[in-house]
Amino acid sequence: MKFETVIGLEVHAQLKTKSKIFCGCSTQFGSAPNSQTCQVCIGMPGVLPVLNRTAIEYIVKTGLAMNCRISPYSRFARKNYFYPDLPKGYQISQYELPVCEGGHVEFMVDGQLKKVGLTRIHLEEDAGKNLHEGIKDASHVDLNRTGVPLMEIVSEPDIRTPEEAAEYMRKLRTILRYIDVCDGNMEEGSLRCDANVSIRPVGQKEFGTRAELKNMNSFKNVAKAIEYEIRRQTQLIEDGGRVIQETRLWDANQGITISMRGKEEAHDYRYFPDPDLVPIEVSSSWLEEIRGTLPELPDAKKDRFVSQYGIPEYDAMVLTESRQMADYYERTAALSQPKLASNWIMGDVMRELKNDGAEIEDCPLTPENLSGMLKLIEDNTISGKIAKTVFEEIYRSGKTAEDVVREKGLVQITDDGAIIKVIEEVMAANPDKVADYRSGKDKLFGFFVGQVMKASGGKANPAKVNDLLREKLS
Ligand SMILES: [Zn+2]
Repeated sequence: MKFETVIGLEVHAQLKTKSKIFCGCSTQFGSAPNSQTCQVCIGMPGVLPVLNRTAIEYIVKTGLAMNCRISPYSRFARKNYFYPDLPKGYQISQYELPVCEGGHVEFMVDGQLKKVGLTRIHLEEDAGKNLHEGIKDASHVDLNRTGVPLMEIVSEPDIRTPEEAAEYMRKLRTILRYIDVCDGNMEEGSLRCDANVSIRPVGQKEFGTRAELKNMNSFKNVAKAIEYEIRRQTQLIEDGGRVIQETRLWDANQGITISMRGKEEAHDYRYFPDPDLVPIEVSSSWLEEIRGTLPELPDAKKDRFVSQYGIPEYDAMVLTESRQMADYYERTAALSQPKLASNWIMGDVMRELKNDGAEIEDCPLTPENLSGMLKLIEDNTISGKIAKTVFEEIYRSGKTAEDVVREKGLVQITDDGAIIKVIEEVMAANPDKVADYRSGKDKLFGFFVGQVMKASGGKANPAKVNDLLREKLS
């Protein structure tokens, strides 16, 4: 039997607000345990939560960027359950009236455009963290994270492969970082993902029973965990078993998912509207005010790059993955040939950044200095090959390409006479190869090009070398 996979993702994105969602405590990551807590976020009796206005602005901004309907009226609900990292005994979340409904996100997978629908985006508070490692015979609880604002972005079950799931996550992260509402740091847990995975025989309408996967803290792990789960469920059904609805934990070290607990249904949580919080009203004027703060979004920027700079769609996509990268490209392309700029940024600049583990905002080479070098290639002062050497010299030093070319005598040889002289020397040194070439061994042409380039110290203009060689050898 052939099976089809059905995947829906629930992504938790931590908002970049300075303070928590219902109190004034800091949201700073990495502080000493329980140093960022107060009576409100540790759930003392008699305290009252007060909503952080910026959290609403951020979720509305997200909803607009992801094509959602923004509810003019929404409210908070209590999700009741007991856990040591949840001192109140309930989490303030949203249930029947979330801030954002509907919407969709588009992205490319294997050269194909994929569109994934969104069910909703709602706001909630984070829970604390239980610490078990390195503590003997005990567990500790850190409540710094308690009350940090989270958005839960719930997708429709539109995803079919592990690659689509990873690309969907990437696109969400790109959008969230563009609109500056979440730093997207998966290792620090600012972006977390749960995946609902089920399989069904191809052609069947009803969904199979799903397992919910947790604990995947990188794009790679999202794809790997889902891959494993598909194999596990397929095997189980083929062996005559049944998938049970449960929550499973991804173990990255072993590369497997492990059963954690039976999956709860919504009614298990006894949701009811939170009586301590007034409903959220987003007026049309406030909505328009927030819409006005949206930057150019990645898809629009990509399309503009294609039409304005005439670069391929693929280049435009890579260059618009972050706003900072896109800005770097635009500053370079303004001063040099746009396709040449995209080639060098996507190739050499990105390679250096990757080697250094750095982001484009830390790049030591300024767009002005890079375009200075590209200009020398464009006007034939240096060859593309020599440019590789120049690039190495200017990337970290802050020197200009012109200075390096002058200091090292790297100016390209474009004078016909000088190139012919080298060609004649090479031909004289290889009379047998010349004879072979003339008797039909066309492949030897590359050999001659290589010899001439070598003899000129890589400085001969390659196009001229090609033309002149053809002339001399024929
Ligand atoms: Zn607090």
